[in-house]
Amino acid sequence: MNVVETIAGVRELVRAERRRGKSIGLVPTMGYLHEGHLSLIRRARTECDFVVVSVFVNPLQFGPQEDYNTYPRDLNRDARLAAEAGAAVIFHPAPAEMYPEGFQTHVEVERLSQGLCGAFRPGHFRGVATVVTKLFNIVTPDRAYFGEKDAQQLALIQRMVRDLNLDVEIVPLPIVRESDGLALSSRNTYLSPAERRAATVLYRALLRGRDLIAAGERDGRRVGEAVRGTLQAEPLVSRIDYVAVVDPETLAEKAALSGRVMLAVAAYIGKVRLIDNIRVVVD
Ligand code: AMP
Repeated sequence: MNVVETIAGVRELVRAERRRGKSIGLVPTMGYLHEGHLSLIRRARTECDFVVVSVFVNPLQFGPQEDYNTYPRDLNRDARLAAEAGAAVIFHPAPAEMYPEGFQTHVEVERLSQGLCGAFRPGHFRGVATVVTKLFNIVTPDRAYFGEKDAQQLALIQRMVRDLNLDVEIVPLPIVRESDGLALSSRNTYLSPAERRAATVLYRALLRGRDLIAAGERDGRRVGEAVRGTLQAEPLVSRIDYVAVVDPETLAEKAALSGRVMLAVAAYIGKVRLIDNIRVVVD
């Protein structure tokens, strides 16, 4: 696997492929790859000739009290897994390559950054929008692949691409889960065995909401309360940041449920903050 650490280096590789008429796919990640990431890489490979996986733990999207320093990293393993899934190159820049001395330009997606995770992680989505814009400009992909796991990130990037006329197709892919329902996440490695067992409560809570809707409930607030109740019944849930019943594109709260609806939660299991969501079409 070709691991490239410089912007000039990855640009050169991409330019050579373009000259040969090849299409380019980009899968942005923070590394410590799991099946969720690999599903994006595999899909990218079926639709693009040359797949670039970026592995960059982006300091700009971490708050001062967050886990930037302890975020799990294993580049050798990532390189092997990415190659097996069909990637041609890993772009792994150092922070100073992306943010050299004097860096001061940011991308802000205004309203979509504010609710849900944005309310608890100030500056996070500005960091995400900025790094993704840079990656798009560096790699110039035809298509870029994102997981629905990070639903607010996905909505914001789709909005940003439209607002700034970025010439890239955003391909969203469904959440990959463990057999017991827990959404795969690099942060799951922080969980103790007991916490790992308790962590399935996020998905169980979302399913409770979905079941209520299926049974005819159309009041978003009542669905939200049922989801919250399920979370609160788990003793290892130490804090609930939000339970949201929203439109998946605008992230606006939905009081009366119809059309496309997303149930989303963020909660702490012990000290580990986890997010999850589920999409429902209400007729
Ligand atoms: P991360 O490395 O956590 O920044 O994630 C990189 C990309 O992988 C993002 O587009 C995520 O939404 C996506 N991703 C993370 N976990 C999953 C999952 N369980 N299923 C599908 N996609 C995922």
